[in-house]
Amino acid sequence: MSNIWSKNPYTGESIKEYYKDTSASIEEKLKMAQSVQKEWSDKTIEERCELLQNVSELLLDRKEEYAKLISMEMGKPISQSIAEIEKCAWACDFYAFNVEDLLADEIIETDAKESFISYDPLGCILAVMPWNYPFWQVMRFAAPTLTAGNTGILKHAKNVPGCSKALEQLFLDVGYPKGCFQAILAGHEEIEELIRNDGIKAVTLTGSEKAGRGIAQAAGKNLKKSVLELGGNNSCIVFEDANLDKYLDTMVQARMQNTGQSCIAAKRFIVCPEIYDEFLERFIGATKKLTVGNPMDNDTYIGVLARADLADTLKEQVDKSLEKGAKLIVGNKKDGAYFEPTILTEVTPGMPAFDEETFGPVAAIIKADNRRHAIELANISSYGLGSMLFTEDIEHSLELIPEISDGAFFVNEMVKSDPRLPFGGTKNSGYGRELSREGILEFVNKKTVYIK
Ligand code: NAP
Repeated sequence: MSNIWSKNPYTGESIKEYYKDTSASIEEKLKMAQSVQKEWSDKTIEERCELLQNVSELLLDRKEEYAKLISMEMGKPISQSIAEIEKCAWACDFYAFNVEDLLADEIIETDAKESFISYDPLGCILAVMPWNYPFWQVMRFAAPTLTAGNTGILKHAKNVPGCSKALEQLFLDVGYPKGCFQAILAGHEEIEELIRNDGIKAVTLTGSEKAGRGIAQAAGKNLKKSVLELGGNNSCIVFEDANLDKYLDTMVQARMQNTGQSCIAAKRFIVCPEIYDEFLERFIGATKKLTVGNPMDNDTYIGVLARADLADTLKEQVDKSLEKGAKLIVGNKKDGAYFEPTILTEVTPGMPAFDEETFGPVAAIIKADNRRHAIELANISSYGLGSMLFTEDIEHSLELIPEISDGAFFVNEMVKSDPRLPFGGTKNSGYGRELSREGILEFVNKKTVYIK
């Protein structure tokens, strides 16, 4: 078995060695997931919800420990890692309190004596997950999917093996049957092999567009259902009547939190001309005030990117945009995995900063001719995760709903995930939904029952 080392992207130091799974050990884990399936789905929903509630409590008990692990493995500022763990507990609470209602039989009146939809588990679901929210992305899959009676196998990103193992242990520690939720450390080929195996009933991926195409192809070839949560290039539209006093900090946070490594981050700021100068000046001021530093310090807001190669990619995207005519206002310095918060103006379609997902603290600022032009620019994207609009004109924002082609439209708030609301994208941002009722219904058999 080959091994992988987890590395601290801030210090560059190796943290711990982990052994990768082999095809044989993966097969064994899959068998275990299958054999525990019946016992697990035979439990009552109340029993499964009780265990999930215990997960929530243990997450909160261990939040410092888990937050430290996240920050060490992928460089997230520690206060944001703590917030991530708290959010995981919230998702567990949401499903623990609501699954019984969410999965209750749905009576449908027909000519039958009784007809209804029954929501049954599918079996073992494979989850392929990214490193950027290493606990949250997993928990938003696991909480609903396991509570619906499925088992789960997690293939986490290769740079967060410690988080992967800690999550597996967390479910065991609260008493989930062995095999109910297992983590594997595996390469891409093993994942394709796993998707081919009859024991895997469906697959969910949160990751890049490229990974999405690979996983969707493997799933499609094997007629397995897939849910894809992929990249994004969200716009933040700022109308001339936006309340900057109230919302500027939200806009900065929308781009810079998690050191810019969020699929739903505001990547393009599309600003109406009347407010452009004031917006730019204030955005620059707020960005310069962000505390950059050691991810382990409580007051750090900008840490490092999760790996040095991610900073290299970001630098290339910024440099290419500058070559094509964008103007550098601040930033664009790189040192190892560190990338300085950066602001670009005069960004136009055809530049990487407009067309591509920039996964780091880089804000592209675009001046629109007017409100209509701003909406048009926002929709010029191959991605469709979400758009945000800042305006005092709520009536106009409601009229715009049909014109926004994304999976989410947030007014006077950054696009964010919330266990109570569906989350997912359109276009190259993927398909399917996580969270809320929509999320739990992705991995159940919606069985039609008809009794004459
Ligand atoms: P990534 O390189 O696509 O990796 C994501 C996961 O997929 C990792 O576990 C990776 O494994 C695995 N993977 C990649 N290609 C694969 C293949 N062909 N077969 C099997 N597994 C494969 O993405 P990332 O760099 O970790 O994360 C950043 C991306 O995720 C961004 O594009 C971001 O927008 C997106 N994201 C989307 C959402 C959302 O909800 N829509 C949320 C968070 C992040 P290895 O690590 O072993 O390569």
